Amino acid sequence: MQRIEAKGILDRVTARSLIQKVSEHPPGVLGIDCSGLYPVLSEGIDALLEGCEQLLSEKSLRLELVSLPHSLVTQLMLRDLPVHNRALTIGEGLAVGDTDAVVCQNCSALLRVQGRGYYGCPECGIHLYTDGRGHVSFYEPLARLK
Ligand SMILES: [Zn+2]
Repeated sequence: MQRIEAKGILDRVTARSLIQKVSEHPPGVLGIDCSGLYPVLSEGIDALLEGCEQLLSEKSLRLELVSLPHSLVTQLMLRDLPVHNRALTIGEGLAVGDTDAVVCQNCSALLRVQGRGYYGCPECGIHLYTDGRGHVSFYEPLARLK
């Protein structure tokens, strides 16, 4: 999983530059290390969540906010967001379980699929099979084993 670091005061400006960075990321899973965010302002959280929502409506992304500082955990929980182990996943619906998209377990890219069948990951080239219900298994084409 690719990871970016968020640092400094979480205000509207930081939130916007963070969203900008995320928007440049190719579709897939992106981790955001939030351990360096301090202090955390309410306007920053709102701007960040709004920005994420907007991005996710345009792009197949799953964001994993990890190492959340305590103050941010409290603020997110006040907003009824499901924080577990100082981490928050946004855009989970696009990951495994979605019949139209599966996550490549080799490189974390998100693959658009149409039902059951064999697919090649556009990012790393690995071949995988999906049953069309979100379950994925990998296989190596026999030709490559020569
Ligand atoms: Zn891949």
